[in-house]
Amino acid sequence: MRMFVASLATETNTFAPLPTDRSAFERTFYAPPGAHPATPTLCSAPVVAARRRAKQDGFTLIEGTSTWAEPAGLVSRIAFESLRDEILDQLRAAMPVDIALFGLHGAMVADGYDDCEGDLLARAREIVGPKAVVGAEYDLHCHLTHKRVAACDLVVLFKEFPHTDFLARADDLVDLALRTARGEIRPVMEMFDCRTLTGAFMTNQPMGRALVDRIMAMEGRDGILSISLAHGFSAGDVPEVGFRVLVTTDGDRAKAAALAEQLGREVLSMGRAATPRHYKPEEAVALARAATAWPQVFGDRWDSPGGGVPGDSTIMIETLLRHPDVPSAIGVTWDPVAVEFCRAAGVGGNLWLRIGGKATPVSGPSLDAHVVVKGVTDDLLIPFEQSWVSLGPAAAVSVGNVDIVLGSKRAQTFSPQAFSNLGVDLSKKAIVVVKSSNHFSAAFSKIAAAIHYLDTGGPFPHDPLAVTYKRVRRPIAPLDANPWA
Ligand SMILES: [Zn+2]
Repeated sequence: MRMFVASLATETNTFAPLPTDRSAFERTFYAPPGAHPATPTLCSAPVVAARRRAKQDGFTLIEGTSTWAEPAGLVSRIAFESLRDEILDQLRAAMPVDIALFGLHGAMVADGYDDCEGDLLARAREIVGPKAVVGAEYDLHCHLTHKRVAACDLVVLFKEFPHTDFLARADDLVDLALRTARGEIRPVMEMFDCRTLTGAFMTNQPMGRALVDRIMAMEGRDGILSISLAHGFSAGDVPEVGFRVLVTTDGDRAKAAALAEQLGREVLSMGRAATPRHYKPEEAVALARAATAWPQVFGDRWDSPGGGVPGDSTIMIETLLRHPDVPSAIGVTWDPVAVEFCRAAGVGGNLWLRIGGKATPVSGPSLDAHVVVKGVTDDLLIPFEQSWVSLGPAAAVSVGNVDIVLGSKRAQTFSPQAFSNLGVDLSKKAIVVVKSSNHFSAAFSKIAAAIHYLDTGGPFPHDPLAVTYKRVRRPIAPLDANPWA
């Protein structure tokens, strides 16, 4: 048995003005064959899962390149084509293979390619032929297009948001692929298109949790091999954006189609009820002021670098500075220039600093403040489940009661260590604001009195109706009144 595995991933916010070139992949995570570390990044989990099984089962594993760019705007044509062709050349050299697996995010959009993953997988299928098993793992924030599903025998998505299960789902993919190659199962996939941009839910909220627990209990019984809920990524203006349900059964196509539709209609009936309240900036401060337990932790959802925006918006910093009597902390704001000045000033240094609002026209205004440097580091390295994430050289600065963490590399604030590594004690803060959509919640729930979500109004809007889509296939809710008619 010979298995090939590779990973090519990013999430493209087609509305974000930050360009993504090949160096964006090489800077964030780039592991050519043999260079992948023992721990996975989010989307390269199939590499780690396949290594574990190869050792256990004794098959031959051939590793291709694994790479990931922090989410941003459109990927350049040469970046996508060169990385795609690098992996396809490695696959060609590895032939013959029985199994080819890919760790993908699923929302990559490149200049000239609405469906990068569909293009990669269709070409991979041509190389390996119809008999080999082709499979892919995706983030649930993917565009689950018909082309990419047709090119595969197996598709497995993360089920959890926050994405705490990327390695567990990679284990599922590897296991199903091996069983398929050995002839033990005959997977067939059917998909239901919910035709909505707003079906996304969180699995740390009651409705989302209950649904995902239920679908996990269905798997492995009555011929149901796998169920995936593709939330879609509404910041990607591509034809097949939206919520889709994929069911894989052992040979029973009718059953897969019926269950996919049933679950899709359940998701539609949940609607916005599955979404937690989003607080406005002043509402968040008022809540923290009235709270009897600290810290109250808020995710600044729409300035999360994980959604492709810069992560340098100052709306909440400005709000916190207006309340100097409330002990607060906020981070990680992307500002390599400010970090450089803070490191030059050193710990204890005083300086006038221009913070944030520099990267793009959607960043909002910069903020000027006289700060004291509280901590500096050459590399702010924080955990996210089994992976490690670098925010690069970083600094913490204080303006009275307000502590602000600044980083040089764009990444989400996954862990309280983003603060504690720089000497910021979150237990003494009434309110903590983190640049993350929801991935922060798993680690921060261990130190937070409560977890909440913010809507500061930008830079990416909470409401799809506030965005002008040009490529989306219509009809789709909420752009069209009744797309199911
Ligand atoms: Zn995601």
